[in-house]
Amino acid sequence: MARIRLDHIRHAYTPDLARAGTYALREVDHSFEDGGAYALLGPSGCGKTTLLNIISGLLTPSEGHVRFDDRDVTRLTPEARNIAQVFQFPVIYDTMTVRENLAFPLKNRKVPAAEIRTRVADMLRRIGLEAKADRKARGLTADEKQKISLGRGLVRSDVNAILFDEPLTVIDPHMKWQLRSELKQLHREFAMTMVYVTHDQTEALTFADKVVVMHAGEVVQIGTPEELFERPRHTFVGYFIGSPGMNILPCRLEDGAAVVSGARIALPGILPARTPGRIELGVRPEFVRIVPRGSGVPVTIDRVEDVGSERIVRARLNGAPLSAVLRDDAPIPAEADASFAPEGLNLYAESWLVERDGRLAHG
Ligand code: ATP
Repeated sequence: MARIRLDHIRHAYTPDLARAGTYALREVDHSFEDGGAYALLGPSGCGKTTLLNIISGLLTPSEGHVRFDDRDVTRLTPEARNIAQVFQFPVIYDTMTVRENLAFPLKNRKVPAAEIRTRVADMLRRIGLEAKADRKARGLTADEKQKISLGRGLVRSDVNAILFDEPLTVIDPHMKWQLRSELKQLHREFAMTMVYVTHDQTEALTFADKVVVMHAGEVVQIGTPEELFERPRHTFVGYFIGSPGMNILPCRLEDGAAVVSGARIALPGILPARTPGRIELGVRPEFVRIVPRGSGVPVTIDRVEDVGSERIVRARLNGAPLSAVLRDDAPIPAEADASFAPEGLNLYAESWLVERDGRLAHG
């Protein structure tokens, strides 16, 4: 397995697009550590597949270099990079049996027959297809075929990395959870470098040690699920991760407080940004309390949604929308104020987090 270094990568699909400044990837300068499990997460069109294809060698970036450990692989083919890939739709041989499909990548690499038998038997068990091992792939269901694709990617031990592009799209919802746990288990056992593209935050947060959040052709944050939740570096991470997402409240700064639609919210420990420009206060709904009138800033409650053990309060703070997540037994006064847990307050300047020392998280 290898460390993957993305050294100032930019990509435009045509020279005309580059001239117009329309880059599918604007600037990516990050490393994926050897043996890490990463998810590339972001909405449709943010550049996830473009980045994955640059790592695999299906695409050559317009600018920058890809390195596996210290080796520059920017111009090498996928085969020469020794990468295993699992795509959205199954890539298997219909006329071969399940067992033959799994053995194929190993035979190609001249792995000894006894080792092939052991590895294939192990993989058949992991993907739950032992009973169908000698059936032709042709007659199997879409999710069984995709399990073979996953198995073919995972059966090799000599790859530099395994790349997954939304591999569970065709899998039955009940099976998704099981296969994701199986992937995580394989990662724990063999410490493979895995990069997994998805637009589904649950999939990303449960699979990956580190989630790479992408937005408009840029990586806006790489972090553990906790880091993305507690300290989003960009307002996009705040509202994209979490359900409901972070409240992003336009504000101005005045004497150590944020003024949101005329209401003052004290900012203990957060130095005001000196940067001129758009300032916003970010607070996750889990850090908003609904308290009796007179103990916070006045809000109007629009509705309360019951979601099992919690309730989501949809309110307005002088007209600005504000969500709060409360325990289902927390009282909700008729005349309500909102108060904010100080540790949950984050300040953003031009969408980037203002660190506690007043510096911007970006640039
Ligand atoms: P999705 O989740 O929908 O697959 P994505 O995050 O993987 O989206 P990409 O497919 O990498 O995003 O696309 C990034 C940008 O590049 C988009 O604006 C897309 O329209 C553009 N793009 C992708 N492929 C091409 C191509 N072959 N030619 C021109 N533009 C492309």
